[in-house]
Amino acid sequence: MVNSVFGSCEATIFEVMSRLAEQKGAVNLGQGFPDGLEPKEVIEAAAEALRKGPHQYPSMLGLPALRQAVAANALRFHGLEADWEREILITSGGTEALCDAFLALLEPGDEVIVFEPVYDSYGPIIRRGGAIPVPVRLEPPDWRLPRERLLAAITPRTRAIVVNTPMNPAGKVFDAEELRFLADLLLRHDLVAIADEVYEHLVYDGRRHLSLFAVPEVRDRVVRIGSAGKTFSLTGWKVGYVMADARLLTPIVRAHQYVTFTTPPALQAAVAFGLALPDDYFADLKSLLEARRDFLTAALNRLGFATQTAAGSYFAISSFAPFDRDGDDLAFCRRLTAEAGVTAVPLSAFYGARDLRFHIRFCFAKTQAVLESAVARLEAWRAAQNVT
Ligand code: PMP
Ligand code: GLN
Repeated sequence: MVNSVFGSCEATIFEVMSRLAEQKGAVNLGQGFPDGLEPKEVIEAAAEALRKGPHQYPSMLGLPALRQAVAANALRFHGLEADWEREILITSGGTEALCDAFLALLEPGDEVIVFEPVYDSYGPIIRRGGAIPVPVRLEPPDWRLPRERLLAAITPRTRAIVVNTPMNPAGKVFDAEELRFLADLLLRHDLVAIADEVYEHLVYDGRRHLSLFAVPEVRDRVVRIGSAGKTFSLTGWKVGYVMADARLLTPIVRAHQYVTFTTPPALQAAVAFGLALPDDYFADLKSLLEARRDFLTAALNRLGFATQTAAGSYFAISSFAPFDRDGDDLAFCRRLTAEAGVTAVPLSAFYGARDLRFHIRFCFAKTQAVLESAVARLEAWRAAQNVT
């Protein structure tokens, strides 16, 4: 009576933990949404666009002004060149872009390599299209690309690799050597890459965001996806984009025309304005998030949650080994929400086998006051624990 993929999947871990946080009045560092970072001038641009209109269906590909702004921003910050008329599509968030790409590029029975810990929307959409996600596991604490495991996972049915950099939830940023290795695989096995780069502007400590789209030999095999939600800390807006060679983009546009068809024009106009903001906006966002990361990471380490310094994204990964014997991370997140009033998400939710233990993810893209309140609650909770 219902489709087996969606009939059998559960509510996402983000939804589950956010509702629990609400119920318990906990500080929610679980679901990855920022707090207190929304740029006023971008919101004002949206308000003005709403007052002025137009309000009817905009161009299916997206407003020309936004497509031009996406191209200009990618060139300014990453040195990527794309033809705004033929190689850029605006979508309703990165989520729609991913959906369009999977539906447009995969045939039933195709295999798609996804790296675990894997973002939750890939698997169900790949499967709903009849293709098969093939997980390749990365492990904490170093999240190194497991080259042997990756090679072993490739079969004659492999059609695509999904590369999420900066990577949610690991906070990993793929380096030039890893991307070169992946580019060679694309060429050797005739694959395409879905490059989920929604955190492209959130790369820390002077690192540069590197994209497979910049590797000339594979540029025509890479579908690069971005999201204004992350770049402007406006995750509810759902304005995303796809950048790809026209041969790949054309079927993705066809999928888009039947999935959402368009994206609200006022929000597109405001994002176009935002992408053209001076370099300072992007530098300030990075340094502010870097400071928040440092604050939360140091506090968690002090409390006994061994926490890695994220290279990019919104997320810090911590081990809770000193506080729990069996390492059931979902149970621990529930316990921390109820006992400490602080919510995180379990890392096992990002592994098909649900078997990673002892690791949880905290979102640091919050106001300093929210982070301080979370730390104070954790300190009080820690003081009540029997930890040696
Ligand atoms: N990919 C990753 C890795 C993400 O973290 C997110 C944000 N939740 C998305 C895609 C989806 O982006 P959007 O909110 O623009 O749909
Ligand atoms: N990307 C966000 C996260 O990883 C959540 C988005 C969602 O809830 N779908 O927390």
